[in-house]
Amino acid sequence: MSAEQRIWIKSPLFVFAPDQSQPVTGLVINKGKIETLLFNHDAPESPCDEVFDASGLVILPGLINTHHHFYQTLTRAWAPVVNEPLFPWLKTLYPVWARLTPDALHLATQVAMAELLLSGCTTAADHHYLFPQGLDNAIDVQVDVVRQLGMRAMLTRGSMSLGEKDGGLPPQHTVQTGEAIIRDSERLISQYHEREAGAQIQIALAPCSPFSVTREIMQESAQLAKREDVRLHTHLAETLDEEDFCLQTFGMRTVDYLESVGWLNDRTWLAHGIHFNEEEIARLGAAGTGICHCPVSNMRLASGICPTLDLIEAGAPIGLGVDGSASNDASNMMYEARQALYLQRLKYGAEKITPEVVLRWATEGSASVLGRTDIGAIAEGMQADLAMFSLDDIRFSGSHDPLAALILCGAEKAEHVMVGGQWRVSHGQINGLDLPALLARHRTAASKLIAG
Ligand SMILES: [Zn+2]
Repeated sequence: MSAEQRIWIKSPLFVFAPDQSQPVTGLVINKGKIETLLFNHDAPESPCDEVFDASGLVILPGLINTHHHFYQTLTRAWAPVVNEPLFPWLKTLYPVWARLTPDALHLATQVAMAELLLSGCTTAADHHYLFPQGLDNAIDVQVDVVRQLGMRAMLTRGSMSLGEKDGGLPPQHTVQTGEAIIRDSERLISQYHEREAGAQIQIALAPCSPFSVTREIMQESAQLAKREDVRLHTHLAETLDEEDFCLQTFGMRTVDYLESVGWLNDRTWLAHGIHFNEEEIARLGAAGTGICHCPVSNMRLASGICPTLDLIEAGAPIGLGVDGSASNDASNMMYEARQALYLQRLKYGAEKITPEVVLRWATEGSASVLGRTDIGAIAEGMQADLAMFSLDDIRFSGSHDPLAALILCGAEKAEHVMVGGQWRVSHGQINGLDLPALLARHRTAASKLIAG
């Protein structure tokens, strides 16, 4: 997916690079990677094919979203669940989601990814666990959209195998057999998973949650992930209802359950990770298990506050995720970083949770949660994934520190976005996408899904 053009990104207002001791005054992009960082307003040593005037722009590494359910853009702000906590929220939505079709999923994935891209996100993980009849190729549908938009994605082959009749939460017709899940997981890894630096599409295995899959599918997924060297993902410790479910069903707490099925390791990243005790935090940190913090979803469903700094101190990488659009209901990574700052300040105080901290979670932290070392930072040799923000807007007027302004004044829309050296957003518009036409089709699909 890399571009051949050599591009000089000239005179940015500010570049969020890992080392802030010397301001970066320019970048050279070549063959889809960051070739050189420029300082002291130096020009590149040799001529470039394109000179891009970045004056007035704040440049961040492309943001990385580590947890989502793209299909849920079809059920945003739906009245029956607006004021529900997780378990009743899920039980009301499952029958609606069970009607999802390939066309509707295609539109929902386009809208979710386009919304993320416009917020400066260049890599997105999706957790897709719905495979009702007729939607066996859900992940293939998503691969199509990722390629069309030119973003990077970690598509997780989710699963549900514990239906209501066996004591699980989802209705029986939305669950699959363990055999079907594993067979499709193997197919997807061999068909789509890219292993080299600069990968556009990767596959991970993602049983939905302790209350929707069997112990066997957790174990078999861990074994397959190890054999194929892919990552593992699930929801864990999101609510106290889930903790009660684990105690009643498995006779153990969530992290004990995770360990008992072979998941307590650095191949795993968990969405939410809220209800851990001190001893569990130490074990997760020692194992290097990643945590995706989803502040807006956690506030909307009143689930609790992730102990981010304790997890980091213990050794666990922390990334950010917008979570599904039925519990956020936005897919905006800048908005999420801002909410992470405010929510985490309530827990840890203002001094420790800075704009730099939350932007690092949204970039470097998220990259390590996804097991990637080639994205998430503006440094030589990294992939040229960049998000550029203009401060020429009423919300920034009178602001002073450009990086703090992005978070505190509430930047929500990138001006230009580059993925692998290619411009995907220019002047706030996605190149090659007819957004009004997409939204018209998406709105129709959303109404149809609810109507049944
Ligand atoms: Zn989720």
